[in-house]
Amino acid sequence: MERYKMDRREFIKKLGLGGAAVGTAAVVGCKGGSQGEAGHSLQDVPKGQMTLRENHNSGDKVSILGYGCMRWPTKKGKDGKDEMDQERINELIDTALEYGVNYFDTSPVYCQGQSEHATGIALSRHPRESYYIATKMSNFSPDTQSKEGSIAMYENSLKELQTDYIDYMLLHSIGGSMEDYQKRFVDNGILDYLMAEREAGRVRNLGFSFHGQQSVFDAMMELHDTVHWDFVQIQMNYLDWFHANEMNSFNVDASYLYDELTKRNIPVVIMEPLLGGRLSKVNGSVLRMLKAKEPDRTAASWAFRYCGSYPNVLTALSGMTYMEHLVDNLHSFCPLKPLTDEERSYLEDEVANEILKYPTIPCTACQYCMPCPYGLDIPGIFAHYNKCINEGLMASSTQDPEYQKLRRAFLVGYDRSVPKLRQADHCIECCRCLEHCPQKIEIPTEMHKIDEYVEKLKQGLEL
Ligand code: SF4
Ligand code: SF4
Repeated sequence: MERYKMDRREFIKKLGLGGAAVGTAAVVGCKGGSQGEAGHSLQDVPKGQMTLRENHNSGDKVSILGYGCMRWPTKKGKDGKDEMDQERINELIDTALEYGVNYFDTSPVYCQGQSEHATGIALSRHPRESYYIATKMSNFSPDTQSKEGSIAMYENSLKELQTDYIDYMLLHSIGGSMEDYQKRFVDNGILDYLMAEREAGRVRNLGFSFHGQQSVFDAMMELHDTVHWDFVQIQMNYLDWFHANEMNSFNVDASYLYDELTKRNIPVVIMEPLLGGRLSKVNGSVLRMLKAKEPDRTAASWAFRYCGSYPNVLTALSGMTYMEHLVDNLHSFCPLKPLTDEERSYLEDEVANEILKYPTIPCTACQYCMPCPYGLDIPGIFAHYNKCINEGLMASSTQDPEYQKLRRAFLVGYDRSVPKLRQADHCIECCRCLEHCPQKIEIPTEMHKIDEYVEKLKQGLEL
């Protein structure tokens, strides 16, 4: 727990009723499925206006908005289980391409292993030269980590994506230690294999995604002279710019990562521009700060424009599950209106410091920890908890004048957002989720704390 330098318990105790008990901006429902949070519709988005960034290594002209394919919509199948909603995925990809999005980032492990297949079906209905595919040499299952297993994973990616080359190939989630990197990608010869594939033109750009320690990042930069990283994917947004390490000592400030890459002329791909939704679902006081500058802009649009304002950013990935997300994002990027230096500083300093007053669990809802073998909805539990912190719905004591109201709001909201069988009390602390979390969240510890809080609320015990 020492990784998070802020003590949420202390925070909750201090919070009382002084917190910003103001709702976040809600996504406006849109029956036609094409209207976004800010009331934008597709008709408002000009065609042919997507801002493009040139990759100086390959000459690719990449859309500044990239499609993160880790949260595709699902529907209930005949057997009652969730399955990919291919029709809606096709519709999303068709619209994205029509409005200029041309970078699609997937992985063999996204959507429980279904993302590449669904993305491949949708994309292959369009000319291959009209889009760039990014996928990954993932490292989640030990039986895929031999050279043969890794080559099989790569060949399967080509098959699922219905292509004979990958535009952007990433070594997935570097950052734990250089020993892990050495074991996963070097000792088994798979890095050499991918470099040979690059030489042969079947991998057009080779890079890695990063979550982790500065010492590992520095060591990866030292390898640039021999490997030549064509691009690197980092977590970057206006909160992580100066505060990533403060929020989680496992992480490195994005300002450091971006500067190190830029001075080596390595293009940057951004993940988590909204920090798992934290920068789109801001609390009322933060929203007021943003609206004071530009009343018509959504919180998400500020965060996206922030990322796009850095010139060495090739593309900023957004996992857009619904058409309204896509429409809002197209509105922000067609074309991008870069922030001024003054606006950028406002976000990095004043707005970031206001957000930091509400120390939430740094879950980005990436789903890497799922499925939990005991059925917990890990990101769903954290999302509810974080929402209550952001909205000032945490009781600090049974003596709070509004204790009953806060108690009810937390418990009713919890049951509504997470089915009872998937709640924190079912965590048996098996720790299987731990190694998968790129944010290094102590998931079982957090589950225990949340469950303790819930039990005290249920029994009316002092908090
Ligand atoms: S530690 Fe808890 S949340 Fe994590 S996998 Fe085990 S039961 Fe699930
Ligand atoms: S707990 Fe970690 S792995 Fe799980 S969704 Fe959140 S950030 Fe991702």
